[in-house]
Amino acid sequence: MDDAVTIRAERRFWRKVKVSETGGWLWTASTDKDGYGVFSIGRQSLRAHRFAFGLRHGDPAAAVQLHHLCEQPGCVNPDHMVLLSAKAHKHAHTDQITHCVRGHAYTQENTYLRQNGMRGCRACARQRLRELRDTPEGKERARIYRQSERGKEAQRRYRQTEHGKRAHRESEARRRESLREG
Ligand SMILES: [Zn+2]
Ligand SMILES: [Zn+2]
Ligand SMILES: [Zn+2]
Repeated sequence: MDDAVTIRAERRFWRKVKVSETGGWLWTASTDKDGYGVFSIGRQSLRAHRFAFGLRHGDPAAAVQLHHLCEQPGCVNPDHMVLLSAKAHKHAHTDQITHCVRGHAYTQENTYLRQNGMRGCRACARQRLRELRDTPEGKERARIYRQSERGKEAQRRYRQTEHGKRAHRESEARRRESLREG
């Protein structure tokens, strides 16, 4: 495909995507029987989520499959997908799932209910947050959140917890240390 065709295709692609409140990039055009979005370029018919993943990371090899951590096959957000072998992918979709795709057990403490009614893994959610925090966008979002009323309230509540008290003491100690050095 030459560049002009790709750019046109991409533009057409994003017009079919709607961002949900929970961060899903939902495909609004046609889907196949498994719920995956279908996107065509010329006579070629592609799975929309693979196309989106390819835009970000390059096309995945034909043998690997993309699994939706968000459990929404119609979602084309590359951050919600992981590459799995066919076998691992099948396992991820069996009824008796006791672990998330990254191997964390779905214990009571490690499980939360997503807004879409699916199970979520807390360990993975924390990891995603940590990864997001390191991006410029994440830092900016965190800054805005800290200054909001909700963010301030969350910080107040956090400081009441044992973990929060310790973190506060440690950061105070570091601050004094750096004053002494400077
Ligand atoms: Zn998603
Ligand atoms: Zn899957
Ligand atoms: Zn997990």
